[in-house]
Amino acid sequence: MVADVISGSSWSFPHPRSQQEVAFHSYLTTIPLPLPNDVNDVFEWKTPDCTLNVFNSRATWEVLRPRQPSQAWHDVVWFKGALPKHAFTMWVANYDRLPTRSRLISWGLAIPATCPLCAALPETRDHLFISCPYTGDIWTQVFARCNPPSRMFADWNELLSWIRTATSKRKVLLRKLASQAVIFHVWNQRNNLIHNATALSATTVFISLDRELRNLISSRRTKKHFSSLMALWIR
Ligand SMILES: [Zn+2]
Repeated sequence: MVADVISGSSWSFPHPRSQQEVAFHSYLTTIPLPLPNDVNDVFEWKTPDCTLNVFNSRATWEVLRPRQPSQAWHDVVWFKGALPKHAFTMWVANYDRLPTRSRLISWGLAIPATCPLCAALPETRDHLFISCPYTGDIWTQVFARCNPPSRMFADWNELLSWIRTATSKRKVLLRKLASQAVIFHVWNQRNNLIHNATALSATTVFISLDRELRNLISSRRTKKHFSSLMALWIR
C-alpha cells in the first residue's frame, strides 16, 4: 500500500535492490506525497470508462486491444453458428486475397491465367465464385433451396446484397451458411483440380456441400434460428 511507504511527511522505502527501483524512488521524491500518513488507501484499477477495486482482465483487454472500425461486411462473414473453416475462407475471399491465378500472375508467377474449372476465362475471385459456369451449376442447386436472385450476381457486392435481402432472419442465416459453403467448396475443388488433378463434377461438389450443410444445421438445431432451418434447406 502507498500508506506503508509514507512515514510522517516523507517517503520511507526499503533499500532499493535494482537500478529500476533506484530510478523509481528518485522519481517519487519529485512528486508530493499522495496521502496524509494516517489515511488508509486502496487499490484502484482505472480504465477510461470505469474504476474498479478488483482487477478485471476483460476491461484491461478492452483497453489494450487494437481496435478497428466495424466493417460493413462483418455480418456475412462472422456470425453465430458459422463453420469456422467456411467463415475463414469467406473472410479471405471477401478481401480478395485468395491466391487466384490472376493474383499469382500479378506477383510475377509464370502460370496460365485461365480458370481451371471452365478453362475459358481468367481466374479472378469474381469469375471463380460468381460468373464461372461450373460454379453457376452449384449456385443453381443452392438457389433451389434459398430463393434465387432476380438475376445472377454480377460481382461480389451483389452476392453480399443478395445474402442480406432475404425476407426473414432465418432465411438470411441460411443464405449466409450456403454462400460460405459454396465459396469454401469451390475453392477446395479448384485446389484439388490444380494440385491433385482430381476432377469432380459440380453435382458431386454440391452433394458434399449439401451433406456438410445438413450436418452443420443438425448439430446446431438447439440454437436460435437453426431449429427450423433444415426444413427450409431440404424442401
Ligand atoms: Zn471458370
